[in-house]
Amino acid sequence: MAAALTDVGLVRRGKVNEDSYCALELTSPRPLWLWAVADGVGGYEAGDVASRMAVEILSQSVRAAWENGGAPAVFLGQAIRTVNEAILAESERRQAEGMGTTLTAVVFDGEYLYVGHTGDTRAYLIRGGSIRQLTDDHSLVGELVRKGSLTESEAMQHPQRNVITHALGLEPEARVDVFKERAESGDRVVVCSDGLTGLVSAEEIMNTVLAGTDLNAAVSQLVAMSNERGGYDNITVVVADIGSLR
Ligand code: MG
Repeated sequence: MAAALTDVGLVRRGKVNEDSYCALELTSPRPLWLWAVADGVGGYEAGDVASRMAVEILSQSVRAAWENGGAPAVFLGQAIRTVNEAILAESERRQAEGMGTTLTAVVFDGEYLYVGHTGDTRAYLIRGGSIRQLTDDHSLVGELVRKGSLTESEAMQHPQRNVITHALGLEPEARVDVFKERAESGDRVVVCSDGLTGLVSAEEIMNTVLAGTDLNAAVSQLVAMSNERGGYDNITVVVADIGSLR
C-alpha cells in the first residue's frame, strides 16, 4: 500500500501549492506502481502548471509504455525527457521564462525499483532499520554535501539551500538520472519535496514511517512536523510499503 499527502505549508497558506504528486497502480498487463513528486518553479503560477504537467505527462507516458510491453529501465527516462520537452514548449507558448519543475519518480514492477530524477526532490529507501537517500540533490548545497564541504544539517540551514542546478522545462537537454535497485520485502520507499526535507531529517522520516503500520498517519505526521517547524514551503510526501504490494 501507499499513502500520499501534499500541503501548501504555513508560510504560503492561501497561495497556490506548486508541488504535485501521483501514486498510480497499473494492473495491465501486469502490476506496476508509480510514485512521483514534482516541485514547480517560476512566477505567476507557472510553477504550479509545470509540476502538474510533469506528473500528468509522466503518468500517461508510463501507462502507455507499460501497456505496450515496454521496459521501465527504458521508458522511465524517456517519459521524463518527454515531460521536459512538453514544459519547454508550454513555457515558450506562455512566454513564461523560467517555468520549470523538479521531478522524482519511482516505478516498482514487483522486483526492481526504477528511479528517475531531476532536481532536489528526493527518493529514500528504508531497509533493515536504516534510511538511504537514493537520489542526488541537483542543487548548490547538494553538490557541496557530496564534496564533503557541508554536512546535511548545515545544508538544511544554508541561505542558498533553494538554488537548484537542474530542473525540467529550462533547457532542451535535461539532466535525468535513471537507475534501478533490487527491491526487498520490508522495503519502504519515500518520495518527497524539499518542503519536507528542509525541515525534517532522514532519520526522523524513517522513525515516523516505521512508528506504526498506518502509512496515512505517517504522511500526516510528516507534514505536521514540517509545519510545526515553520512550514516555509509546500510539503509533499509519498510513502509506499513494498512488502504489502507483492
Ligand atoms: Mg519546494
